[in-house]
Amino acid sequence: MTTVVAIVACVVLIWGSLRYAWWRTKIADTRPRVLMYHMIAVSVPRARFNKLRVHPKSFERQIKWLRDDGWTFILVSDLLQRCAPKSVAITFDDGYLDNYTCAHAILEKYDAKATLYLVVDRHGRDWSAYKKPSHRDGELGREDKLTDEHVRTMLDSGRWELGAHTATHAYLPGLPVELKQEEIAGGKRRLAETFSAVVDSFAYPFGLYGPGDVGLVREAGFTTAVTTEPGITSDITNTPF
Ligand SMILES: [Zn+2]
Repeated sequence: MTTVVAIVACVVLIWGSLRYAWWRTKIADTRPRVLMYHMIAVSVPRARFNKLRVHPKSFERQIKWLRDDGWTFILVSDLLQRCAPKSVAITFDDGYLDNYTCAHAILEKYDAKATLYLVVDRHGRDWSAYKKPSHRDGELGREDKLTDEHVRTMLDSGRWELGAHTATHAYLPGLPVELKQEEIAGGKRRLAETFSAVVDSFAYPFGLYGPGDVGLVREAGFTTAVTTEPGITSDITNTPF
């Protein structure tokens, strides 16, 4: 009997720890949060990139929780101003079709908004192989992407801000500087022209950047840039921008 109680206590302790992550330091909600998403879709059996897929029901639960908990949805460009406590920026990388067919309606339902970091030449591209040649199985290349028309509809709703994610989802560390410029500044220019939109925010492909890349992003006229380092900074001046 004692053994059974001890096992149950252990299970509850492990479950509670995983669920509530009590060991993590709490950081004041005056620090804005940035949440990164890719696809809002069900997992694909045995697929490599299921970590990029968030189930639609789970995504809705997350957005509803934020709304019910009193968080204000902001755009990444709003981070340049002093944000109210409990501000959260939702972001989507790459430009998957489900951002329109699924996420858009959920954002509307909860009066939320988001920043879309769009790859210009996104259709049929297997960009995971740019970073790791062994990933040449075409999984991300086969995923349907947003058409320009979808993006226009999303921007017209006033719920989305357009950000840049290079022309081809380039692996920046592997490129000479002229090609980096083409990807960073050229990608920004092409998005701005195609959508007649202001494109002032940049997301580093794969979250990777070096000191030179930060300079090129700044030179291209971007005012904010995001990467994939997890956590909440306690010093918002200690960032690449
Ligand atoms: Zn990406």
